[in-house]
Amino acid sequence: MGRIVLEQVQKSFGDVSVIPPLDLEINDGEFVVFVGPSGCGKSTLLRLIAGLEDVTGGTISIDGGDATSIPPAKRGLAMVFQSYALYPHMSVRKNIAFPLRMAKMDKAEQDRRVSQAADVLNLTDYLDRRPGQLSGGQRQRVAIGRAIVREPAAFLFDEPLSNLDAALRVGMRIEISELHERLKTTMIYVTHDQVEAMTMADKIVVLQAGNIEQVGSPLELYRTPRNRFVAGFIGSPKMNFLEGAEAEKHGAHAIGVRPEHITPSSTEGLWQGRVGVSEHLGSDTFFHVHMEGRTEPITVRAGGEVDMHNGDVIYLTPDPGRIHRFHAKGHRIE
Ligand code: ADP
Ligand code: MG
Repeated sequence: MGRIVLEQVQKSFGDVSVIPPLDLEINDGEFVVFVGPSGCGKSTLLRLIAGLEDVTGGTISIDGGDATSIPPAKRGLAMVFQSYALYPHMSVRKNIAFPLRMAKMDKAEQDRRVSQAADVLNLTDYLDRRPGQLSGGQRQRVAIGRAIVREPAAFLFDEPLSNLDAALRVGMRIEISELHERLKTTMIYVTHDQVEAMTMADKIVVLQAGNIEQVGSPLELYRTPRNRFVAGFIGSPKMNFLEGAEAEKHGAHAIGVRPEHITPSSTEGLWQGRVGVSEHLGSDTFFHVHMEGRTEPITVRAGGEVDMHNGDVIYLTPDPGRIHRFHAKGHRIE
């Protein structure tokens, strides 16, 4: 249960095409993340799958059946939004049971499902509280609980963590991954944050302007980005790109090298530059190095306690096995 296949699915709003025809397969039990910059069509694609928007063309099948014209409530999918939309006057128990009450499910079965969801989400002690008496993370869990009790074929999450502060986001990210481990239900998760995509996904779908730029596991995207967009989008800090003579040496229009694949030295190396801004994170240091003839600094990752300062001469040597080459149009040269 939970295999979703999109064939030639497209969406326009009036004359504006937001999703050009695309194909995508999501396997049963997979954790799939749609990632891309704001406005690229992630929510629209998710809403098409949920049935909250009608497709302009193409078909969506769920577990082998054509779901393209099936109303959202009958698709067996559960959506969790960024705004939790909990009922403030209802207890946590009633909030979680809400979709079951609406479906007039047998009361004993409702209770069984609610206590099971509360157990999975560590909410058992909070069932009689109101949402206002919970932390942001707990409220998010209640919203997830309301999805779990429906026992959906797949969970659809649209930026569920963007209202939470940074520390809580990391915690919830881990919780949702653990939840997936336990339930083994298909999850489709939308985010603009490539770190969330990299840390949570079995399979990442990178979108830009409604197009699928690449589909792959986090490490596939990291190691062999199909084009310059994916190369620049996945990985933090971002990949450095060089054009001109340096790229020509490698038979490419542009080369890319990640900050962690450059060795800095104060005495020798392939490229010479000067240290600009340094970011000391404790575990790592990121130097932004200015090189003659370049406006953009090169970012390089050094160890945590490297002793180099603004204005110092620094030498950089990229790992030759980790240089990515790109055509003028942006696609990867193998
Ligand atoms: P994302 O979730 O990746 O930020 P969206 O899917 O929300 O992007 O939006 C993709 C594009 O579709 C945007 O340009 C947005 O303005 C447009 N769009 C979304 N919903 C509608 C709508 N109901 N009517 C017209 N345009 C829309
Ligand atoms: Mg969105």
